Amino acid sequence: MTTEQSAATLNAWAVAQRQFDLAAEKLGLDPGMRKVLREPRRELTVHFPVHMDDGTVQVFTGYRVQHNLGRGPAKGGIRYHQDVTLDEVKALAMWMTWKCAVVGIPYGGGKGGVIVDPKKLSMKELEGLSRRYFTEISVLIGPERDIPAPDVNTTPQIMSWFMDTYSMHVGYTVPGVVTGKPISLGGSEGRNEATARGCVYTIVDAAPLVGIDLKKATVAVQGYGNAGAIAAHLMAAEGSTVVAVSDSMGGIHNPAGLDPDKVLSWKKEHGTVVGYPGATEISNEDLLEVQCDILIPAALENQITARNAGRIKAKLIAEAANGPTTPEADEILYNNGVFLIPDILCNAGGVTVSYFEWVQDLNRDHWSEAVVNAKLKEIMDRAFGETVAVSQREKVNMRTAAYLLAVKRVSDTTALRGIYP
Ligand code: GLU
Repeated sequence: MTTEQSAATLNAWAVAQRQFDLAAEKLGLDPGMRKVLREPRRELTVHFPVHMDDGTVQVFTGYRVQHNLGRGPAKGGIRYHQDVTLDEVKALAMWMTWKCAVVGIPYGGGKGGVIVDPKKLSMKELEGLSRRYFTEISVLIGPERDIPAPDVNTTPQIMSWFMDTYSMHVGYTVPGVVTGKPISLGGSEGRNEATARGCVYTIVDAAPLVGIDLKKATVAVQGYGNAGAIAAHLMAAEGSTVVAVSDSMGGIHNPAGLDPDKVLSWKKEHGTVVGYPGATEISNEDLLEVQCDILIPAALENQITARNAGRIKAKLIAEAANGPTTPEADEILYNNGVFLIPDILCNAGGVTVSYFEWVQDLNRDHWSEAVVNAKLKEIMDRAFGETVAVSQREKVNMRTAAYLLAVKRVSDTTALRGIYP
């Protein structure tokens, strides 16, 4: 591999397009359709001012990208992170299109991001930034047009400000404009846990195919945010032993097992899992390579690459994060017999319960957590089963199988609708 190639593949957008190309090729997709689905429909960049606590004004940059609107309104989260780029948001938006199609919910794909380290802002600054960013992107947003949700570093409180900002503009309360809200504002039971719960449902489905007994399995989790921390908790509830976890500051390892809930309390108190008593400190890179049966990347893109894929010991990888694995790494893992549950399937529980939230909001209804989790399980199990069937029939890895399903569904809709005018 040349340096140029390896640099290009570490751009999330280049990765997303490459994954799409692989599926388009296998599907024998018509060249015109390929051109349409390979690019986002709309990309909005906004630069907006925020009053800071010290009396200064700062200008922040944010994005909202709508990749596809063929199967319904755009759907996808908003990320606050210092490393956000337009290319990253484009990739995340495209992945949302495929994700919604894999699980069969009536949405296209969108994503947003603001270049900011929210940990450096006060609550007042965070609110000001959130309200002004939402105002700027509101030209694209609406319950029938584009419905944002949480992503990396965004919370139910931020969703409340988004919902309120939109509602103030139109003059009445519109709960269905955003999902991932607190329950008292029209949020759904089970939404907060949904990404992790859906991920664990797919792990439970995959375990027998890989010969893993979850009661005896060891698990490593990269990332201890909403997806990672709750996945660790749910894996422990399945009887597995969580041996290593990490966050942006670093990781901790104890082959005898960590208590995910105690680690979370430590993180809440100290701002990081690092320093947790009775564990060895390891780096985020080392975490991916620890001895374990199941690896759950639940942080950012491009973590498993051609450089480290060959050293991964896990037999099962469950992508709670979006885009953690590059196409080169996919090939290495597949050749090494590692079973990988791809992001667009594995972490689709979040957007699936977002869909339930939106349906409840539009109908002024409220479902119990038991109903939400049962519906989620049915959808995840069906999508998992369909993906495994394609993977076995076409003799392709699980990512390509999920893409074959998703791209076919989106291209069928696009073909039926035709090109306007
Ligand atoms: N940000 C989450 C994802 O990447 C959830 C999106 C949503 O609920 O709309 O799937």
